[in-house]
Amino acid sequence: MKLTAIPRITLGLVSVSIGLLLAFDLLLHLFPSEADTTREVRTRVSNSLAIQAAALLQARDLRAVDRTLSAIQSRDPEIASIGLRRNDGALVSQAGEHARRWKPPTDGSGSLNEMVVGIRSEQQRWGALEIAFRPIYQRSMAQWLFSGPTQLLMLFSLSASVLFFVYLRRMLQHLDPSAAVPERVRGAFDALTEGVLIVDANEHILLANQSFQAMSPTLGPDATPIELLGKRASSLAWLTPAQLEGGADATPWITTMRAQTPVHGQPFKVTREGAPEAKVVINCSPLLDEQRGVRGCLITVDDVTALEKSHEQLLEVLADLATSKEQLELKNVELEDLANRDALSGCMNRRAFFAGIERMFREASQHDGELICIMADIDHFKAINDNHGHAVGDEAIKRFAAILAGCVRPGDLVGRYGGEEFCVAVAGMTLARATNLAETMRQRLAADRSIGGSDGQMLKLSASFGVTSLQLGARSEADLIDQADRAMYIAKQGGRNRVIALEPQARLATSITEEATS
Ligand code: GH3
Ligand code: MG
Ligand code: MG
Repeated sequence: MKLTAIPRITLGLVSVSIGLLLAFDLLLHLFPSEADTTREVRTRVSNSLAIQAAALLQARDLRAVDRTLSAIQSRDPEIASIGLRRNDGALVSQAGEHARRWKPPTDGSGSLNEMVVGIRSEQQRWGALEIAFRPIYQRSMAQWLFSGPTQLLMLFSLSASVLFFVYLRRMLQHLDPSAAVPERVRGAFDALTEGVLIVDANEHILLANQSFQAMSPTLGPDATPIELLGKRASSLAWLTPAQLEGGADATPWITTMRAQTPVHGQPFKVTREGAPEAKVVINCSPLLDEQRGVRGCLITVDDVTALEKSHEQLLEVLADLATSKEQLELKNVELEDLANRDALSGCMNRRAFFAGIERMFREASQHDGELICIMADIDHFKAINDNHGHAVGDEAIKRFAAILAGCVRPGDLVGRYGGEEFCVAVAGMTLARATNLAETMRQRLAADRSIGGSDGQMLKLSASFGVTSLQLGARSEADLIDQADRAMYIAKQGGRNRVIALEPQARLATSITEEATS
């Protein structure tokens, strides 16, 4: 309720009271009628004039009659003219041009403005005193204002207004929202940076703290709380449409009051005239009485625009960081790959191969699994370099590496062990199958005709292979490699271009014997 309501109610009450007074006056004639009063006064004046005139006539002093009538007429502004008329109609004396002015009343005895008083002499009617009064309606505004009934009504209106106002102020204090919340409570709410609204069960604002007023676009920072008080929270256009845009059928405070449970952390976008779009978070708590009836709602509005902006910036920075991290990881993979790969052949270099076979050896040993090592070396490679040049030798190394890599599965290792010497590690394979695998490798190289020699002929390459298995008792990966190397040496000894598998109990068996063709 606004403060201006009290004067409004006062005005209403005073109007009703005056209306009642006038109605009672109409029925009971409480106030003396002006015409009646006037008639009474005029009758009395006329009678006393007539007595005076009769007395003078008795003394037969007609001049005194003239003087008296003139004096009375000129002194009394209400009297327009006076005439003393005999029964025969002759005007014996007059004042104020009575002959011209006088209009005899139709009923003979007189009206409000024309009075006739009979004068008797010696028990007979001598004549009459005629008095013409000025018409009552010609009275001035001031005369009307100072008339009794008008003054009574004015005095009544004034005193009733003052009394009603004072009474209402006292009695309606508990309905006056600005008085409903004590000053110190308001002060405490004003100290909060969050906007706070307290509304009654009908959404009427009982309290709006300073932060809320500052948020409010129509008021600005200089507004007084009174301007928001009494308004419905839903009538705050900047706050409400946003609430309902999201498809909700009611504002959060209505939902809160209906459900009697708090609504927390609802984010909304609000648009205020002349200000950029803002993000606010609204919390609502119902205000319940002892009988758990809803008395109102406490609404807090937190402007999180700045926070949200920093959050978005932080997310952007984090996204940038994540991208940089990904790029870094990719670079690391590339670098690791470069560090682990042999530049010429594209196979693992010696260091990476040793690290890999060491891991495989450990796993196979722990789980009693199979692990195969194949050592392979191009035959008479020195001669290739010598006869066709170093570049052709390099091509031969690359080709050999490609053939070896093409024969194994992902997870198996192919490493460049020395110049034209390669080492292969395969997990979960028997010695017999590994011997077949080495044989496939050998055959593919022997059949390859992709490297052109300096003489224009295609090179016929061959290699010798030594194969061993973890099952043959190697105690370390170095031991395993050494076994394969020994088997390969035996293959060289045996005439090259062949696969030698290390036999159980270190007996050597030649699985395939084939003379080198080149
Ligand atoms: P064997 O059949 O007994 O293996 O004879 P080989 O000639 O292949 O063996 P040897 O160890 O005598 O020769 C290897 C040669 O390989 C010696 C070296 O100059 C050459 N070599 C080592 N690394 C490279 C390389 O990266 N590129 C080229 N083109 N040649 C290399
Ligand atoms: Mg060689
Ligand atoms: Mg060699």
